[in-house]
Amino acid sequence: MNVFFTNDVEHTSVNGAVWNRIATQVDEDGLPQLLDLYERYGVKSTFFVLGQLADLKPNIVKQIVARGQEVGSHGYQHDYRFAFDLMPLEDQIAELRKSKDLLEQITGQEIVSFRAPALRVNSDTPKALQEVGFKFDSSVAPQRMDAFMSLGTNKKQWLKAPRAIYETAIDNLSREGHSGIIEVPISSYGVPYIGTMMRILPYVMTPLTRRLLYWESKRKNTPITFLYHPSEAVKEIEEEYSPHRRAQSELGYLLSDVLRAKVKLRNLNHKALDLLERELVFWRDNGGKFKCVKNCICDL
Ligand SMILES: [Zn+2]
Repeated sequence: MNVFFTNDVEHTSVNGAVWNRIATQVDEDGLPQLLDLYERYGVKSTFFVLGQLADLKPNIVKQIVARGQEVGSHGYQHDYRFAFDLMPLEDQIAELRKSKDLLEQITGQEIVSFRAPALRVNSDTPKALQEVGFKFDSSVAPQRMDAFMSLGTNKKQWLKAPRAIYETAIDNLSREGHSGIIEVPISSYGVPYIGTMMRILPYVMTPLTRRLLYWESKRKNTPITFLYHPSEAVKEIEEEYSPHRRAQSELGYLLSDVLRAKVKLRNLNHKALDLLERELVFWRDNGGKFKCVKNCICDL
């Protein structure tokens, strides 16, 4: 059973602002604690690093490499106004290249894995990835039913996306085809298997989701892909959050901005790491093999 613990390394807050304070906390506190935890459990994992953060704190990338983990790209910026699903092909290529070049310069290694900021992609994204030399993507969350809570024009495609690892179509990351890009889908069982959900509903929903994914994986060899953020392991200051309006409609504003901002603040800091450790223990004790994304098709 292949288990991918994937980490989106960014310094954006729930209201979309970019803060130097979060960058410093991720560098000096959240990330080292997370790397220690993974080392204790022998976890090989992938860290999708935002280019803007790598520029600001190259030490973040160096720490990840020094601990033998994979560095992947999370694009260059996380600004919702410049999401991949809003950009034409040329802009996506430029953004991917900027992030890949920077990470390769810091790591001295080839960067081959990608996850789109906010999982927002469009029909040009597979071409852009191919053009820039990426081989693996992890931006699709098959049958994830909370997509209406977040922005992005591509997420209805997730309803019919394959649940096993697959080669994507050249015009759709959520469909099988021959693009040469391998998709490692993010696990969900209706409810996503991610750090945010683990913190919001830790006691019934997350153990149930995990158990359902385990049974499915045993029967169908589907991958287990958990999505986490090192920024969840740092202390956030609640007063600094005022939901920033991104959605157009009133309902959208309430669901995707106000409600999201509130619930996302639960169980941060050391509580988030304790909850994550519980997930690691489960997979270790149930025959999980921890892998990084670039090794997803070796000995499947
Ligand atoms: Zn992100």
